[in-house]
Amino acid sequence: MQYLPYALVGAAVVAAYWVLPRLWLQGKKRALAATCRKHKTIAITFDDGPGRLLTPLVSGRMAEAGVPATFFLLASSVRGNEDVVEDLLQSGHEIGSHGDRHVHHWWSLPWTGVLDTRDGWRRLRDVTGREVRRIPFRPPFGKLNLLSMLYVRRQGTPVVMWTHDGFDARLGVDKSPAELAAELQKAGGGVVLLHDFDRSLANASQQVLAKLDAVLALRNQGFKFVRASELLALVAKS
Ligand SMILES: [Zn+2]
Repeated sequence: MQYLPYALVGAAVVAAYWVLPRLWLQGKKRALAATCRKHKTIAITFDDGPGRLLTPLVSGRMAEAGVPATFFLLASSVRGNEDVVEDLLQSGHEIGSHGDRHVHHWWSLPWTGVLDTRDGWRRLRDVTGREVRRIPFRPPFGKLNLLSMLYVRRQGTPVVMWTHDGFDARLGVDKSPAELAAELQKAGGGVVLLHDFDRSLANASQQVLAKLDAVLALRNQGFKFVRASELLALVAKS
């Protein structure tokens, strides 16, 4: 019995540190899914870029289709690729922040996620010349801890999760382009997660493009395509 208070305190710490942010993000994910379904809408998002080779490829593919996307940039990858970022903006895409060095907010020191989020904003601001705290933010691995959740809420940062993982960045897990498109069609839309960092495997980029093409083909089924901030505006109206 004497350990009961410690156990209760421990449970409360776990709940506050990991569970509360998880519930908060799951709520956001549900709201995105419901809004996409209601408006038959898809938001295509790319994480972990920019990639010197792949980002222009996917951007060009989307320009051909007349569809915008949102690119959640890793600020540490932006240096040397400033022209790629500028091209994205010129092409009508939206840029969001994905932090600086892709740290996991759960499995690092409690304040590391906050510092990485802040550093990501600083670097992105220096490159783009614009204030970026209020542009869409996607936490690395889709995880926040209590401190980083409170931090982004205090900054008024819009956090954007995904509803459909394209599984284009994981080795050993696969989802075919047709399966991804079928999932989206069945759900009535959603937020698609793909990745535009350059990769060494020979056909990896082709896999990304094939999945992107499968999603873009849903234009013929009457789906609308929006940027993340446009989707958030729809969520706010719902
Ligand atoms: Zn990522």
